[in-house]
Amino acid sequence: MVVVAVALPMVAGAQEVAVLAGTLIDGGGGPPRENVTILLQGERIAAIEPGLRRPPGAEVVDLSHETVMPGFIDCHVHIAAKLPSHTNATEDWLTHSDLNRAFDAAVFVRHMLQQGFTSARDVGGGDWTTAVRDAIDAGQISGPRLWVSLEPLGPTGGHGDEHDGLDPGLSHPGWNNGRVDSVDEARLRVREHKRRGADLIKMMPSGGIASSGDDPRAQLMTNEEMKAVVDTAHGLGLKVAAHIYPAAAIENAVRAGVDSVEHGSFATAQTFALMKAHGTYLVPTLTVYDVFYAAARDTPELLTPGTAKKELANDTLPKKNLPLAIASGVKIAYGTDIGEGDHAMEFGLLIGNGMAPADAILAATRNAADLIGASDRIGSIAPGHFADIVAVTGNPLRDSALFERVDFVMKGGVIYRRDGRVTAAE
Ligand SMILES: [Zn+2]
Repeated sequence: MVVVAVALPMVAGAQEVAVLAGTLIDGGGGPPRENVTILLQGERIAAIEPGLRRPPGAEVVDLSHETVMPGFIDCHVHIAAKLPSHTNATEDWLTHSDLNRAFDAAVFVRHMLQQGFTSARDVGGGDWTTAVRDAIDAGQISGPRLWVSLEPLGPTGGHGDEHDGLDPGLSHPGWNNGRVDSVDEARLRVREHKRRGADLIKMMPSGGIASSGDDPRAQLMTNEEMKAVVDTAHGLGLKVAAHIYPAAAIENAVRAGVDSVEHGSFATAQTFALMKAHGTYLVPTLTVYDVFYAAARDTPELLTPGTAKKELANDTLPKKNLPLAIASGVKIAYGTDIGEGDHAMEFGLLIGNGMAPADAILAATRNAADLIGASDRIGSIAPGHFADIVAVTGNPLRDSALFERVDFVMKGGVIYRRDGRVTAAE
């Protein structure tokens, strides 16, 4: 990607900026509005006014022929994760250090921002995730605002156990950073992660698919361990995201108080009803299943040993289950479960499997901000919020392909993409 550095007068801060929106979908859940002016002061939105206004002295950003939306939010990313279609998972894991992963992530987060994602939640990384978050916040590299967990918490032999599938003699000090085999270890890990800079906690109460030796249909953490994770995290002001598949395990995690169920692929109507009653979010992550199903079919030798069969057996189920989730009224937030790759493809998958386009936008804006706990500053175009704004040419409520063709991206008042091209910020 060619980066062209352009001086941006609007970055200067105090000057007023007027963004002219032909159509505004503001992330608040109301109908689209025509011909609206968004007034910015520095990195924030100051006011929203009817009509296309050009206040004297203001810098004008003319999006009067476009549909303007809040910057998108992906609630389930792994910023250093490479696509399985061209990277051997085991080889990559064993030949790269955390420093290498930080540089990979720096590339992928730039692409995320260019795709219109101005915020994201990383739910499973290591010290590279906090480092990349901090580098973005410091303006050293460009990328979405990040909320990050560290290593997913889970038991020995679970989905997050990095020893799985390897020579048992191999070890690495960092591979035990997420290990939880008792209530005491659960408390300790949460406190360690907080000390290392985590914004939230990720845990893996059930087995998973892209890992050797564990069963996605089995609950692997005890209810007591889950409760200890949640209570300790909440006591420290951290939310808890839980990777879980089977219905009974989801119900146990919901009762333990988790804030979101990631994947949730084998949930039943009863499971979704319980989640709705507790206000627990579902993050369906349809993207990762599409990507990994194709990899399992076309390049199984690149996947973690023994997992292609699990992918082929399970990866079509989440799409089939989405209509049940939608019908239940459970709160849904947008998440892809990828790092490298197309973060906007989840829109098409949600809409193609039964979600109304307006609700898909809310999943990636208002709901995602609520799940992260940052509704006061991201997720909608409203006074006081960060000026995180994207635009497409055309009506995304009618044509879901437009979500993958964002041609304007602003984060905190700085334009990173305009007329479909990279503009600035490096
Ligand atoms: Zn994930």
